[in-house]
Amino acid sequence: MNDLGVMIVTGGSRGIGAATARLAGAAGYAVLVNYAADAAAAAAVAEAIRAAGGRAETARGDVGSEADVLALFEAADRMGRLAALVNNAGVVDQPSRVADMSLARLERMFRINTIGSVLCAREAVRRMSTTRGGRGGAIVNLSSAAAKLGAPDQYVDYAAAKGAIDAFTVGLAKEVAAEGVRVCAVRPGIIETDIHASGGLPDRVAQLAPSLPMRRPGSADEVARAILWLASPEASYSTGAILDVSGARAILP
Ligand code: NAP
Repeated sequence: MNDLGVMIVTGGSRGIGAATARLAGAAGYAVLVNYAADAAAAAAVAEAIRAAGGRAETARGDVGSEADVLALFEAADRMGRLAALVNNAGVVDQPSRVADMSLARLERMFRINTIGSVLCAREAVRRMSTTRGGRGGAIVNLSSAAAKLGAPDQYVDYAAAKGAIDAFTVGLAKEVAAEGVRVCAVRPGIIETDIHASGGLPDRVAQLAPSLPMRRPGSADEVARAILWLASPEASYSTGAILDVSGARAILP
């Protein structure tokens, strides 16, 4: 099997992160599967990668905690050279209007979705940048079509946190473009995962499907394939790119 170096996938225990971890393991990355709470689910993802002949380990850690992020990257260092970071961990919340949002909700939303991704990217750049002795690498951030739609009456705070990811992707990409580090993002539309139920809307995908341009949601694998391509050397001239994987949802002319 190829040895592509280490890929950290934050939130790799289920959904898009788990699909990304599995594809990465099959491609030849040594995968560090991060998770927040569900150790058994993360272990099952890593075990599936190893059963298929790949390398994988798990690491618990809240991406919104600086101490946890530092420990996560130290665990990655023990696996080998960091080649790629997938900033996938993300959360939504119960539908709410902005007028009713608490400070605690806003802090959690931005701490995990935005600050977590920035902290992880910081640690990745410290290891990858050729100005710091690194050999380059790739960072792929998970944005959302919500960043363009705004998600009114549902979770404008989530949309804003993902909008910040878009700006961060462009800015960091320019900052480290001459240092061997590429920074891209994927902007998924409605994808069939547990995130909708975690926000109190288990039927969201089924309800929205008929109104989507392709009349169906996307799968975690369909997003993971885009992530893997952006992380790979095949995408060597793509940086600062934000790829919509939304079946034409939220596509503007
Ligand atoms: P998901 O099924 O809810 O999975 C979320 C993953 O993130 C889980 O592995 C969870 O781990 C982990 N996680 C949650 N909080 C964390 C934290 N503080 N630190 C580390 N890991 C944490 O989500 P998904 O649908 O696959 O979404 C993945 C990414 O795509 C997110 O950034 C999301 O915003 C974005 N996205 C999803 C959709 C969609 O329709 N599904 C659309 C647009 C964008 P535990 O299980 O251990 O808690």
